Amino acid sequence: MQTLLINDVNKENIQKAADIIKLGGLVVMPTETVYGLGANALDKTAVTNVYKAKGRPMDNPLIVHLANAEDAEKYAYTNELFYKLAEKFMPGPLTIILPKKDTIPYEVTCGLDSVAIRVPSNKIAHDLIETSGCPIAAPSANLSGKPSPTSFAHVVEDMNGRVDAIIDGGECDIGLESTVIIIKGESAEILRPGKITYEELCEIIPDIKINQAVKNECKDIKPASPGMKYRHYAPSAPVLLVEGEDEDVISFFRNKQETENCGILCFTEDLEKLSLKNILTFGKSDDEEAQAHELFDKLRRFDSMNVEKIYARIPSDKGVGLAVYNRLIRAAGFGIIKANNIQEYKNGKKEKEHRDNRRTAP
Ligand code: AMP
Ligand code: MG
Repeated sequence: MQTLLINDVNKENIQKAADIIKLGGLVVMPTETVYGLGANALDKTAVTNVYKAKGRPMDNPLIVHLANAEDAEKYAYTNELFYKLAEKFMPGPLTIILPKKDTIPYEVTCGLDSVAIRVPSNKIAHDLIETSGCPIAAPSANLSGKPSPTSFAHVVEDMNGRVDAIIDGGECDIGLESTVIIIKGESAEILRPGKITYEELCEIIPDIKINQAVKNECKDIKPASPGMKYRHYAPSAPVLLVEGEDEDVISFFRNKQETENCGILCFTEDLEKLSLKNILTFGKSDDEEAQAHELFDKLRRFDSMNVEKIYARIPSDKGVGLAVYNRLIRAAGFGIIKANNIQEYKNGKKEKEHRDNRRTAP
């Protein structure tokens, strides 16, 4: 398939992309979170093609993107809490799951009776949705399993030849996917953390919960959000997170740099203490927003380094950090090792066990 690359974003080209959506085609659009692979949410065939283009499992539903929160009425049963949240956070990086109306085909929700709704603030995404006149179903525009794309180059790498058009919107502001919450009557639960934090949501919903799958592997339980069960965001080489006091982690990294063909993902301030071989940083330890912005780009860069393994720092799980932690721990297949217990890992036993336990999307 020939993919139209739209670098010059103007009214005429947005109209072209909107026409492709209306006719049942696939268009990659920038959003403030990550790039999305969009199709008319009301067109079953177009929606099915989204899963095919990504290689996405057919049990992992798509988010429906709207131009305005008021349009949610057409596709979902809203309530007072939805509008309270919408007033504060929409347009923006918050996705809300509500009971679905019959207008939304089951191809979008993978048979679920609920639908995920988001109103992006990115102007290009907004204009595309408005000009097409369609709700746009759009997952992240990466091949399934890979880190979500946060730049035009990432999208071209994964999607050129698989979609009808890609719109260049530069780098995404946030760099991680939206916060996903499900409304349950007067309360709610966070299914996926993002830029809109637990702390911010607590101001409107004081008793909001965080689903246990946000920080833990859901091995035997049925996940509330199907996407949580898959290994995600992973570069080609296996990733392991390294836990411990700063000094111990630095000595661990030094030792590994000398003895293994590995990559190191560390905080900016660690750089001066380590050899520069195969090392990438993802922001300062106390700058969670920078970490969010950098993470996926850095995970992708390891693919061109030819390393056999990647050791990474563990971010804080506070504020936006919870979202960074959530993505990185999935990229690592939940593999965490202790920096001060190198001996245990020298024989490779634990690492091997970990590798065998990694889950991969089918
Ligand atoms: P992505 O499209 O890659 O940003 O992923 C969307 C996330 O939202 C996935 O984790 C989905 O499983 C989740 N999701 C979408 N729709 C629903 C729904 N109706 N119920 C629960 N989770 C959903
Ligand atoms: Mg995704």
